[in-house]
Amino acid sequence: MVHKTHLSLSEWLNGAPWDIEQFYQQYSASGLGDAPRTVEDFSVLLAELQQHPLVRRRQVGSSYLGQPLWLYSIGQGPISVFAWSQMHGNEPVSTAALLDAVCMLLNDEEDTLWKDWSRLMTFHFLPMLNPDGADANTRHNAQSIDINRDASALQSPEGRVLHQCLLNLKPDYAFNMHDQSRFYTAQGSGLPSVMAVLTPPANSGGTVTPARARAARVLSHVLGYLPSSLQDYLSRYRSPYSSRAFGDFASSKGISCMLLESGYLGGDQTRSVPRKVVAMTVLAALDGILTYHHDNDVNYRDDAYWQLPLNVDDERVDVLIQHLQVAPDGSENFAVDVGINRSDVSPNGVVDIGDLRHLNGFVGIDARGLSFRAAEKVTLDEPVTLSQETYLEYLRQGQGLFCGESSLLNNTSGWPAIWQQKTGSDASVSGPTLGNQQVWFIANKSLRYAVLGDTVIDLERGESLNQYI
Ligand SMILES: [Zn+2]
Repeated sequence: MVHKTHLSLSEWLNGAPWDIEQFYQQYSASGLGDAPRTVEDFSVLLAELQQHPLVRRRQVGSSYLGQPLWLYSIGQGPISVFAWSQMHGNEPVSTAALLDAVCMLLNDEEDTLWKDWSRLMTFHFLPMLNPDGADANTRHNAQSIDINRDASALQSPEGRVLHQCLLNLKPDYAFNMHDQSRFYTAQGSGLPSVMAVLTPPANSGGTVTPARARAARVLSHVLGYLPSSLQDYLSRYRSPYSSRAFGDFASSKGISCMLLESGYLGGDQTRSVPRKVVAMTVLAALDGILTYHHDNDVNYRDDAYWQLPLNVDDERVDVLIQHLQVAPDGSENFAVDVGINRSDVSPNGVVDIGDLRHLNGFVGIDARGLSFRAAEKVTLDEPVTLSQETYLEYLRQGQGLFCGESSLLNNTSGWPAIWQQKTGSDASVSGPTLGNQQVWFIANKSLRYAVLGDTVIDLERGESLNQYI
């Protein structure tokens, strides 16, 4: 049994409220910018890491397009830990968070976090397993293979590299690092999930194997460190066993694997908060690993992990308009809720209409006392440059549906211009419809909001609500 010789994170933080910002500012990766994604975005920091005296680097393979895949290692201890990130190329927060954690560990020259961590543990990490997908901003690799569904077939070079690393490094613990869609919530709370975690199943029965129990214990340890203000924003990922997925493969090999999904918090489009939370999670998990790995006598508590609410993705939209009155000519009035999603997801625009009380929105509009109003046409017969200012002038007069020659419109506003469909009747629209090709207003005596396909404009403030999503 190894006695605890290191200072735990909680002891280090003892006496002060956990100021995640301050801690992060002090130790985290510098020079990465707000939203690094591509090989080039991470190249300067990785080159610096390579020069660090405690860092060893070796090439373990190449991507399908021939980009090198590097494995970095720090420490020389017997406990083997292996982290990989961004196997889905369009999930770069995982890489930023991983490198933040590594930098915090390396920059902690006085061993504030742990005494002798490098003697107790070897931490291997493979940042950006899918560099081709990262450069193309795609989930899949350059063969259009989802690497995380290739753990059995091993048809991708990246999947083969990961498979070999898991077999050769024989890690005791692994971190499988991803980003998840902003629509995930902690079930029941309606709040966005800033981070979801999982000990992936090791078999089709979902048995809690000793390896999974160890991972659950480490994750429970992490949960004890995260600030109470965050607790409602954490969730437990759910996924049935699949031999095609690498986390499940690792669990089936007796590795205590932890899936970490960087989630989302409204109004934080670069995901700076999830990035910090995941970076801190890696550090707190390492603390848990160092604390518990050899302490098999203790009755560990892993219930914090199991009590996390499930991670679900059917309780959230970007903008939720509630209680909108619709008054069609000659028909009975009715009230609906309307859910709208931004154009970076599919489907987008108006995605649901009706009783949406089960949903939450990053932006909510209480439309009680407000009604739907169709937009009037803007017929173009001379060139128009559509800045936000000129667009707002049209919208504030109830106009917004463009018709005429589209080449006459130079739209510099950054907001979508919606064109009258060439087909279909010319009758005025009487209520919201699904899709992203409609422009309409939310109004009482005056016009309050304009809906331009997937974008909602606050006409009083003259701004798009997208920034609050
Ligand atoms: Zn992923």
